[in-house]
Amino acid sequence: MQYEAVIGLEIHAQLLTETKIFCGCSTKFGSEPNTQTCPVCTGLPGVLPVMNEKAVEYVIRTGLAVNCEISPSSRFARKNYFYPDLPKGYQISQFEQPLCGMGHIDITVDGSARRIGLTRIHLEEDAGKNIHGAAADRSHVDLNRAGTPLMEIVSEPDIRTPQEAAEFVKKLRAIVRYIGVCDGNMEQGSLRCDANVSVRPAGQQEFGVKTEIKNMNSFRYVEKALEYEIKRQIRALKDGERIIQETRLWNTDKGITESMRSKEEAHDYRYFPDPDLMPIEFESSWIENIKAGMPELPDAKRERFTREYPLTGDDADFIVSERAAAEWFEEAVRLGGEPKAVCNWVKGDLARLLNEDNKQIDQCLLRPAHLAAMLKLIDKGTISGKIAKSVFEEMYKTGKDAEEIVKEKGLVQVSDESEIEQIIDGILKDSPGEVARFKAGDAKLMGFFVGQAMKATKGKANPKVVNELLRKKLG
Ligand SMILES: [Zn+2]
Repeated sequence: MQYEAVIGLEIHAQLLTETKIFCGCSTKFGSEPNTQTCPVCTGLPGVLPVMNEKAVEYVIRTGLAVNCEISPSSRFARKNYFYPDLPKGYQISQFEQPLCGMGHIDITVDGSARRIGLTRIHLEEDAGKNIHGAAADRSHVDLNRAGTPLMEIVSEPDIRTPQEAAEFVKKLRAIVRYIGVCDGNMEQGSLRCDANVSVRPAGQQEFGVKTEIKNMNSFRYVEKALEYEIKRQIRALKDGERIIQETRLWNTDKGITESMRSKEEAHDYRYFPDPDLMPIEFESSWIENIKAGMPELPDAKRERFTREYPLTGDDADFIVSERAAAEWFEEAVRLGGEPKAVCNWVKGDLARLLNEDNKQIDQCLLRPAHLAAMLKLIDKGTISGKIAKSVFEEMYKTGKDAEEIVKEKGLVQVSDESEIEQIIDGILKDSPGEVARFKAGDAKLMGFFVGQAMKATKGKANPKVVNELLRKKLG
């Protein structure tokens, strides 16, 4: 029997506001424990929350970017549970009337397009963090993160494969980074993904019993964890077992999902409207203002890049995946760089160097103007494509201009025929055996002669001139 998987995702994104959702404490990551707290976010009695307007705006911005309906009015609810990192004994979240309703994100996997529905987007506060094992036989609580604004994006169960799930997270991450509401850092936990997954015989309408998977902190783990879990469920069904509705954790080291708690132990959160916060009602002009300030989004940019420049679909996908890369690319093209050449350098050498240094494109010394100027030197024949590689790397390391590097290191391409002729004559004189074999018909030796000429000039000889002269002399 053929089985198909049904996957829905829940994504938590930490919003990039400077202060917390209900108080003025900083949201900066990585500070000393409990240095960014106050009576509000530590849950002392008698305090009142004050809504951070920026947090609401960021959720609305996201809703607009993913085609959601914006609720005309919205309210907050208390989600009651006890945990040491939640000092109030409840989390302020949304239950009925979230900020955003139905929307969708379009993804493409292996060339086929799919539309994934979104159920809702709501706003809530993050909890603190329990720290275990820092000291023997005790645990600590750090409340710096408590009250950080968190946006929860819930998808419809429209996803069918682990690849689609990974693509969905990738696309959503690109969007929240484009609109500047979340840094998308999955390792540091500012973007977290949970998945609900079940399997059913292909063609069956009814859903199977689902499990929830947590702790997948990269695209690759989203894909791997779902692959494992789908196989596990299919195997269980084939063996006549029952799937238990439970929460499972992805174990990165073992490459498996493990049972964390079954639904019988699940909480009843007793949601009720938070009496400390007024319902929110939006003026349409406020929403219109946010709309007017939205940047061009990845899908629109991709469409424009394939039309205007034109880039192939794969190249456009790569360039628009990060807003900073797309802007870097367009700036280099505006300064005279040929689009395909600019794209190749960004996709190849620059991506490799950034990857080695674990850096983002907007953090590096190499600017679009550097590349545009270097491409001009190649066009003019001042440097060869081969030399350009080392010039590029030097520009990346030092932030110096291509021309300066070429001058400093004496990298100017030698195109002078008489100079190259002298070198070639020397090579032919020193290799009588190879010359004889070439003349006897071993055409492959051309590569040997070219190689020798490049070696003698430390890669600076103009390859076109070298080839022409060799052909003339050996012909
Ligand atoms: Zn605070």
